[in-house]
Amino acid sequence: MKKNGVCWLFWASLVFAQAQAPLENRQVKHLKVTILSTMLADDGIGEWGFAALVEADGQAVLVDTGARPDTVLSNARDLRADLSQVREVVLTHFHQDHTGGLIALRVEMKKRNAAALSRVHVATGLFYSRPLPDGSEGNSMVAVRPKYEAAGGQFVEHARLAEVLPGVFVTGPISRKFPERNWSGTGKVRTPTGLVEDTVPDDQSVVVNTTEGLVVITGCGHAGIVNILTATSDSFGHKPIHAIIGGLHLFQAKDEQVEWTADKIKGFGVGYLIGAHCTGIESLYRLRNRIGLDRRTAVVGAVGASFASGEGIHPGRIAQ
Ligand SMILES: [Zn+2]
Ligand SMILES: [Zn+2]
Repeated sequence: MKKNGVCWLFWASLVFAQAQAPLENRQVKHLKVTILSTMLADDGIGEWGFAALVEADGQAVLVDTGARPDTVLSNARDLRADLSQVREVVLTHFHQDHTGGLIALRVEMKKRNAAALSRVHVATGLFYSRPLPDGSEGNSMVAVRPKYEAAGGQFVEHARLAEVLPGVFVTGPISRKFPERNWSGTGKVRTPTGLVEDTVPDDQSVVVNTTEGLVVITGCGHAGIVNILTATSDSFGHKPIHAIIGGLHLFQAKDEQVEWTADKIKGFGVGYLIGAHCTGIESLYRLRNRIGLDRRTAVVGAVGASFASGEGIHPGRIAQ
């Protein structure tokens, strides 16, 4: 009886270890994240939008596609980033300032490689209808979907955390533990349960499990950066958050909200912050001071700025 009990425990721990293995074992040794669309730019084009190229141990994923059709194409060309060799794309949410370049990028890159930018990872809810008061469709992705599929592309919908490259994950929809309410609109979304306030339920982030810690790449961070970090930390055994890169949608936030956010971020052990896109300039500097980071470890993100394993932030000229 005792022997059976020990055997069962051994077997159960093996099964548990296997269930845990994918997240903990898949580690990226070398990561480089380069911003391809945001407001600030040394060279190239700045715009209200976001995109970043994530290179992880020789593979790559494009996170968001900028607002205007040509911004990411042009900035990638200037920065000598070859998107024709990138297959995977992540769209962080449906907003046009993150999805506007998708069709132009696919059409242009497939001339060089049929597989280029041919698979797009989205979270459940990205295609939900957003009816406007005049009855028209407020979600441009409803029309983009058939165009992208006609160009040979494929969408993969995620309801939960999923690995898109070894050690590189999409979070899927984020549970909203804290009432951060980091979105601007007063829009409505048609979900399977009815027409409700659009909280951007499809907002997801990219998490890279590096040997230095977790690196979180957000688009607009509509789910709230604290909710995003909480969900990420829970999924990866409370490993420290090494870096945050992207939009935190705090440009309109009151001082108290920024201070609350900073205190929470500090609690996750965050070592680097590139606040791009909708983070807000004032909010970035308030976060930096209160978290206890400095100009080497926290900057406003610019087109061409990057974060690399073992090196930290290369901010470019204007944001240094
Ligand atoms: Zn947005
Ligand atoms: Zn945005």
